[in-house]
Amino acid sequence: MHRIYLDYAATTPADPEVIKAMESYFFEKFGNATSPHTFGREASKALENARETLAHFLGAKSEEIIFTSGATESNNQAIIGLAYHLKGKGNHIIVSKIEHHSVLEPIEFLAKQGFKITYINVDKTGLVDPHDIKKAIINQTILISVMYANNEIGAIQPVAEIGKIAKERKILFHVDAVQMTGHLPVNVNEIGADVLSLSAHKFYGPKGVGALYVRKGTPVDSYLMGGDQEKGRRASTQNVAGAVGLAQAIELCREKMSQEIEVQTKLRNKIINEVTKRIDGVTFNGHPTKRLPNNAHFSFDKVQGETLLTSLDMMGIAASMGSACTSGAMEPSHVLRAIGLSDDLAFGSLRITIGRWTTSEEVDYFLEQLPGIVKRLRI
Ligand SMILES: *Cc1c(COP(=O)(O)O)cnc(C)c1O
Repeated sequence: MHRIYLDYAATTPADPEVIKAMESYFFEKFGNATSPHTFGREASKALENARETLAHFLGAKSEEIIFTSGATESNNQAIIGLAYHLKGKGNHIIVSKIEHHSVLEPIEFLAKQGFKITYINVDKTGLVDPHDIKKAIINQTILISVMYANNEIGAIQPVAEIGKIAKERKILFHVDAVQMTGHLPVNVNEIGADVLSLSAHKFYGPKGVGALYVRKGTPVDSYLMGGDQEKGRRASTQNVAGAVGLAQAIELCREKMSQEIEVQTKLRNKIINEVTKRIDGVTFNGHPTKRLPNNAHFSFDKVQGETLLTSLDMMGIAASMGSACTSGAMEPSHVLRAIGLSDDLAFGSLRITIGRWTTSEEVDYFLEQLPGIVKRLRI
């Protein structure tokens, strides 16, 4: 059976060109980037080239990029590192209710230690209102964290407006840009981000490598201890092959971006239009236009999302209920709760995310299969 992957927001396959670019860094150019000999210098040069490529893509400077093991680490380091560093100045943090768990859990960890947290609501379409951020600011506020695009419902947040507010009030602004990076343009200066997280496996790069952008002058404490790699900001031998892969992946995304946006938006719109037309009792979630080009998200009346996913999988279609971390758990998604869905509807949800290798035939097959499956499951 031809298997169809409609879960690009969970992870993407690596682009073959990414693997090709990485390969020699496992073999003849395997050196430790901190070694002073030729092997080390070769590795270090590749690492710095990768850093330059990513910095250029983000409108940043090379020295503002720290390579990490992924966005979970980047988010943890950003939130906990900044809060600890700034606790002499204040103890109040503002965060949206729909952040990824790798932002929310470090925040909850800080709350247990006496930090005060304001959780900002979103509207029915999943958008934060910048005025709510402004109203939440107090003298003790040290950090604002709002994601660029949501991983479940694809809503793109008004981060540039929030960044402006943060700057006016001299408060640091962290942005989880995982779902945006590689798919739409991301420029740290346009959005006023002081710290920004991203992850290679969400844009056709390898798993286990990501980055943290830290604006020059922003305090950053190393989260891992035991080495002075990454200018003392992240201990551990650098993942040179991973960084090379991340850079190659971002280069490919840059070249293909405008075309991919166009193709994916068309396919995505077809999915939204046809699912809502062919099936009764369906709710379309998220914002109609302020949304990732590859994301469609629905809730079905009287359907168990888990069973729906299993049935789709039996027909060769891989999809998701929302975030990979939420599926399998008994709690309904915090994102779907925040946009006001009932628990029943939240449990009946389906996230379709397409990508570089999704064909219109695959979308048609999905659209043919789905109505019958939903109907069967409702009996
Ligand atoms: C996937 C994801 C993360 C975590 O990234 P990893 O590199 O897998 O740790 C963080 N935030 C968002 C929005 C994500 O989609």
